Amino acid sequence: MPHDPRMHTAEHVLNQAMVRTLGCARCFSAHINRKKSKCDYRFHRDLQEGEVRALQELINAQLRRGLEVREEYLDRGTAGTCFGLERLPADAGDRIRIVRVGDFDACPCIGPHVKNTLEVGRFLLISHDFTDGVLRLRFKLGSP
Ligand SMILES: [Zn+2]
Repeated sequence: MPHDPRMHTAEHVLNQAMVRTLGCARCFSAHINRKKSKCDYRFHRDLQEGEVRALQELINAQLRRGLEVREEYLDRGTAGTCFGLERLPADAGDRIRIVRVGDFDACPCIGPHVKNTLEVGRFLLISHDFTDGVLRLRFKLGSP
């Protein structure tokens, strides 16, 4: 399996937290592994420590809500008006799978997810750095 379901679900919540707190786009690249993952964002600067804390608190607050992770299918045209489809593989087809994390996040995705955010465990942002317009965040998860 290319993606760990807990880590990958955490990526969804992290992306939405980045959109809400920093106003940036979802990550354009992600390397998801069971022990440690990283996500790259197009941004104009590094994060400040207060922002790191706020991000982590928002993510953990959402995970602790026990949000249900659900999927639905939309035709490509409808999905394209609501979501960016650029990270989907070209062969994703005409029925696009949308993954919702409770009322917090929704995005098109083909990967594996947990059923409830309580399964993810505690989110820990372990480092951040900024190079050439790319903000890289690395994170790991505590046991659920
Ligand atoms: Zn996903």
